[in-house]
Amino acid sequence: MAYLTLSGINKIYPNGFHAVHDFNLEVDKGEFIVFVGPSGCGKSTTLRMIAGLESISKGDFLINGERVNEKSPRDREVAMVFQSYALYPHMSVYENMSFGLTLQGVDEDVIEKKVLATAKVLGLTEYLDRKPRELSGGQRQRVAVGRAIIRKVGIFLMDEPLSNLDAKQRVTMRSEITQIHRQTGATTIYVTHDQTEAMTMADRIVVMKDGYIQQIGTPYELYFNPVNMFVAGFIGEPPMNFIRSVVTDGCIDLGSTKVKLSDFTSAPVAAGLEGKEIAFGFRPEHAVLYNGEKPADSVGVSCTVELTELLGDNTNVYIDIDGVASILKIDPHEPPATDSRISFAIPYGHIYLFDAETEKVIRKE
Ligand code: ATP
Repeated sequence: MAYLTLSGINKIYPNGFHAVHDFNLEVDKGEFIVFVGPSGCGKSTTLRMIAGLESISKGDFLINGERVNEKSPRDREVAMVFQSYALYPHMSVYENMSFGLTLQGVDEDVIEKKVLATAKVLGLTEYLDRKPRELSGGQRQRVAVGRAIIRKVGIFLMDEPLSNLDAKQRVTMRSEITQIHRQTGATTIYVTHDQTEAMTMADRIVVMKDGYIQQIGTPYELYFNPVNMFVAGFIGEPPMNFIRSVVTDGCIDLGSTKVKLSDFTSAPVAAGLEGKEIAFGFRPEHAVLYNGEKPADSVGVSCTVELTELLGDNTNVYIDIDGVASILKIDPHEPPATDSRISFAIPYGHIYLFDAETEKVIRKE
């Protein structure tokens, strides 16, 4: 039995706005689930319904098989970390972490043990006497996490907990939160709009858009088998490139290059697409530059280089494929010159096809 079950969950706000539609998800004990999607897609609303901070308009939410729709946040055994970590400014780190337990009337000795153990996990031992204003952003965030995990609840909810940190601190805290999760084993639901956070931290990711789940899967599944153009474009950085074309005489136009669909799809798939508009998708990192002979089992495309961006471990090349802007991610060592004509190949295995109207993926076999 799943530990958490969200079954047909909907949220309609009092003003009539339907923020979450038919949300279905089963979460196993100990899983790290990330809700990801652009601003306004309903991630926080769903998380707040799980926490009990927002009522569920329709559907059932079960913890361990028990329906808890009407239970208060306290009775759901959840702990939550928000974007603004809201520490008590006049209290020390120790007091911020122990406050909740003190309120519950837990024995001082027990509290001390718990605070010391949690501080050790989070690397906060030497800061226990400090006030929040005497800490860096990352340290404050750790106190907020500590305050939540000290209660040893079964469900840990986090809403954009790293968004107030700078890029470097975010990377550090990302791995710290993953490690804390490994140590505590708490079932975690984490909300972010950052696909890198989702990809690096999640056991499974729920991609949302406009209140609807688009796809649920492991980072690997979402990257390699996106179900639609939205997921394909949202997961991966830089995003997947798309070239739209109507299938004519079994071929599509990739700029000035005509490509036979059946070269990389089965014959029945190619035949079924005749006359349809499709989107040909490829990831920037799967393009291979070549001079002369095109590599075997790949589609070759020519384009004009508009701009190159050296990022250290790779270079992003902004290109124009006869009017379609795309990006290639290549080895940084011999960047092509601006305005030059270049050719690149996309291995058949890395080609994606989508129905341009429904935006759903088209299976190639
Ligand atoms: P963000 O990343 O910006 O926080 P989100 O995906 O978490 O976005 P939500 O905060 O869940 O999005 O909001 C989903 C939608 O519901 C948004 O369009 C928002 O404007 C709307 N919404 C949120 N709270 C309310 C409310 N109290 N009343 C009416 N509409 C609301």
